[in-house]
Amino acid sequence: MKRILLLAALLIPASAQSQTRLTENLTRQAGVRDAMAWIDANFERQVEEWIRITEIPAPSKFEQNRAAYVKAQLEAEGLVVTIDSIGNVIARRPGTGGGETVVFAAHLDTVHPLETNVTVRHDSAMVEGRKSRVLRSPGIFDNSASVANMLAVIRAMNRAKIQTRGDIIFIATVQEELGLRGMEFWLEKNPGVAKILVAMDGGLPAVNYGALGIYWTKYLFQGAGSHTNTSAGKPHPARALADAIRSIYTIDIPANMGGAVYNVGMLDGGKIYNGIPEEVSFTMDLRSVNPALLDRLDAQIDSAVMRAAAEHKVTWTKEKTLRNGAGGTEQSLAGRRNHPLIQTALDAHRFLGIDSRAVASGSTDANMGVVRGIPSIAIGRSIGGEQHTLAEWSEVDSALPATKMVFLIAVAMAGLAVPGSF
Ligand SMILES: [Zn+2]
Repeated sequence: MKRILLLAALLIPASAQSQTRLTENLTRQAGVRDAMAWIDANFERQVEEWIRITEIPAPSKFEQNRAAYVKAQLEAEGLVVTIDSIGNVIARRPGTGGGETVVFAAHLDTVHPLETNVTVRHDSAMVEGRKSRVLRSPGIFDNSASVANMLAVIRAMNRAKIQTRGDIIFIATVQEELGLRGMEFWLEKNPGVAKILVAMDGGLPAVNYGALGIYWTKYLFQGAGSHTNTSAGKPHPARALADAIRSIYTIDIPANMGGAVYNVGMLDGGKIYNGIPEEVSFTMDLRSVNPALLDRLDAQIDSAVMRAAAEHKVTWTKEKTLRNGAGGTEQSLAGRRNHPLIQTALDAHRFLGIDSRAVASGSTDANMGVVRGIPSIAIGRSIGGEQHTLAEWSEVDSALPATKMVFLIAVAMAGLAVPGSF
């Protein structure tokens, strides 16, 4: 243990050593070691629970059954649990005082419709060069792994009688996949409560400390319509849509502004073969960490739509479905990177033997903290992939260090109440 700590300290750049709250002998405390040992010893039960959670369908807005399961588990651990009006499950683990309130958020919802077969399949596969146990099911990685990790951390803290100075608030959030709505709702209703926010979402080993801004827009083109026989030269919403999409995909994304991605995800419109449609639409998912670039591209897309509509003599409108702000580029967030939360998370990864990196991006519940100026990160739940598809999978054993990492960040940031007393 001591040798690992020393090694960890050597690997941390001098500038970061003063910022981290983990290496200050925390992992030598008996209580901390007890909790870590409990997580190890109970990992197979955690995996069973992870499967159980995954097999409770929970598409966004239909998280109630999964929420009820989580609430019962939290209550069994003696926590006071509430469900707010949007559906978030909130449990507060009181501190002894004198520490910061740390919020951990794991979203309950999935993108998969209620009727999706979510039965978990056991498998094995090569993952990062090692033969690994793998679980396959829609939602297994995003995000039931985090929900199971969170429950395991709470139980470990209770069994090891860990007391923190600051309160820890555990939230199983809803509607994350609809634009982080559950997290936004809680932060709006509880201003000033979260001093630190950790979203448990994403793959190991990245520590995301920024916010990928996300704009969802629906563009609609409208015209009078016409029978095909009399359609030549008439205003044509479908042709406007086609031209607009083609032109949007030629927009130049500047190389030095932090990058951006966009995607036309849905097309709709028209009812019959033999007529010009009266209305057609497409949706745009536009993303960048740079707020200026986000707005610039949004305006360029508008211009492309406007030109195409004019060309084909149709009207157009736009619906702003979602406007989640961007956190800033790597350069603009350089100061934030040194925050103890980020350095502690990196340190926890190192301590657990995981080669991590801090990334000024993220599209998780942490974004809602980043844009409000709350020190916020997202940390990985396991190694996995193909999320948001039916082929979603997760490696099993990587969830073990990911769980310990949550625990270490919790005690480091909320502060052990009586260090050395265990
Ligand atoms: Zn997620």
